[in-house]
Amino acid sequence: MKDHKPKILIIYTGGTIGMIENPETKALQPFDFSHLMENVPRVKKLEYNIDNIQFDPPIDSSNMNPQHWADIAKAIEDNYDDYDGFVVLHGTDTMAFTASALSFMLENLSKPVIITGSQLPIGEVRTDGDENLITALQVAAEVDKRTGEAMVQEVAILFENHLWRGNRSTKMSANNFNAFMSNNYPELARIGLDIKYFKDMLYRLPSKRPLKVRYNLDPNVMFLELHPGITPSTIKYLLNTPDIKGIVLKTYGAGNSPSEPWFTSLIREATDRGVVIVNVTQCPNGGVHDELYETGNCLAKAGVVSGHDMTSEAAITKLMYLFGMGLKPDAVKRYFNSDLCGEVSL
Ligand code: ASP
Repeated sequence: MKDHKPKILIIYTGGTIGMIENPETKALQPFDFSHLMENVPRVKKLEYNIDNIQFDPPIDSSNMNPQHWADIAKAIEDNYDDYDGFVVLHGTDTMAFTASALSFMLENLSKPVIITGSQLPIGEVRTDGDENLITALQVAAEVDKRTGEAMVQEVAILFENHLWRGNRSTKMSANNFNAFMSNNYPELARIGLDIKYFKDMLYRLPSKRPLKVRYNLDPNVMFLELHPGITPSTIKYLLNTPDIKGIVLKTYGAGNSPSEPWFTSLIREATDRGVVIVNVTQCPNGGVHDELYETGNCLAKAGVVSGHDMTSEAAITKLMYLFGMGLKPDAVKRYFNSDLCGEVSL
């Protein structure tokens, strides 16, 4: 059982939470960590030992890329044994991609990595930033009294009233304080007067192993989103993108696409060349059941792999991670079809 003050490392990457207004353009731009902490003096009341690392310069998360994910993962790996938990402060725009990527990169993670940010800057009079920061710190410090272990042992997004599994989350709103949602997996905790954990929903490793960080992500992947009227030349052009290895095909409903021969033969031609195409629905809720309709079945017959109920953020980062390990297309398909860290219901 732990009897010391919780030790938490904050990794500040940027995002609205720490932004200030540019006096000339009036646009929000990232600002440094000390400004952020000055605006939440009540953090001291938590009586935790808190250290921080900050991106230099902090960034708007629209500029996030795999090198930044590697920097966050490195900060966690270098400090893994010295801290009870990690809080990553991040812009909301690409937070779900970062949460998904980190969940794959941080293999065997058994400590909390809580990602949060805010819709309004922490320096504003009315802001969700201070609440989110303080709750994220509390979640990162929470211990399960029964086992003496960290309550949360995975990458999660804390936002307003909910704690969500990171690789199940999507940004749902550009203006609500409850900006995130996990459409296919229940919340891990509800934030109200208390923080109520739903313990059966929390991820646990099948067996404890040392943390192993996979830094290599292959960026040669992309989304191809269907819409009625999409032309053969567009599809052909995109499927032949130079160096492309993996494509997340964003389909209709339960994983359906046009079943016309021109479409399926272009898809078949790409999968025969070794491009891994995975099927993820455009619907926020529910998943792919490509056996249901002929229009889904034709994709499976053309060599497309089901993404089941994965988010598109999880699907694209899972492809980056699997190709980053140097796997051949057949092995990528096999692993894609398995649950690596709670990202999919099979
Ligand atoms: N553009 C900002 C970002 O993602 C939005 C936010 O943080 O809410 O960095």
